[in-house]
Amino acid sequence: MSYCLATYQSADGPRAAIIVGERVIDVAKATRVNGDVSVMGILADWSKARTRLDALAERQGARGQPLSKVKLISPLPLPGAVYCAGSNYGDHAAEMARVKGLPPPPDPHEIGLEPWHFIKSSRSVTGPYASVKLPAASKKVDWEAELAVVIGRKASNVSEKDALRYVAGYLVANDFSARDLGRRAAAPAGSLFATDWTSHKSFDGACPLGPWITLKREIKDPQKLGIQLDVNGVRKQDSNTSHMIFSISEQIAFLSSRITLWPGDVILTGTPDGVGNGRGEFLNAGDVVRTRIEGLGELVNKMS
Ligand code: ZN
Repeated sequence: MSYCLATYQSADGPRAAIIVGERVIDVAKATRVNGDVSVMGILADWSKARTRLDALAERQGARGQPLSKVKLISPLPLPGAVYCAGSNYGDHAAEMARVKGLPPPPDPHEIGLEPWHFIKSSRSVTGPYASVKLPAASKKVDWEAELAVVIGRKASNVSEKDALRYVAGYLVANDFSARDLGRRAAAPAGSLFATDWTSHKSFDGACPLGPWITLKREIKDPQKLGIQLDVNGVRKQDSNTSHMIFSISEQIAFLSSRITLWPGDVILTGTPDGVGNGRGEFLNAGDVVRTRIEGLGELVNKMS
């Protein structure tokens, strides 16, 4: 029986659930395993937990609460590390170069570049339907639809070939970005300290993540998924994960050669063409941003 992993807001706080069809089943109440109260706890022992959850999904069938009656929050309200691929779609890299009046950059593979990631604070994660307050310091908050990967097994120095074995599942992310806070305007030209990735990428609500985790086995090829983003019903991004420069496997192999990846860590794999920065459009209070990926569901976030 197929199911997704989610977190819902109960009277006692956030709790892990599986979604079977349109029903939401509280995992720990059914399994009586303490760790099953949170998705982080479930992922900590993912291979065993999966067997337990498979059995639960079979057993529970149509029981549980209807999905329409449950408030879903981010399946990982506080993930481990959140790594984000920078400029990882050819179309987006060209778009960002155009903004700066530069020619389209070459494929990084051709000039010996390896993947690169910045860190987004796990504290910036918010729910799939949460409203997001525009940070007071920025006038240029932008959207970035991204496929997010959740690690399900400790990964250190893994090969590209084996990389996907360490993945528990996939979900939808938005890498909201404060474009005007990424540079320290007063920093002297050429200063090594001219960029401010934290202000650019990490503010409260900067990382909507959800709506649930689709298990890896449900997705035949994560490099063949449509990815779209609408602002107020107008399509802004429309691409496919096949256009990534560095594949998910390349990213996991590279990251795991630099630092151990742990269950519950998340990798945002980059955004395609169509961000606001390319056309000088930014988000205003009241805007509704819908981010969707084929087979993984949709985030709906209203800016305030
Ligand atoms: Zn991004």
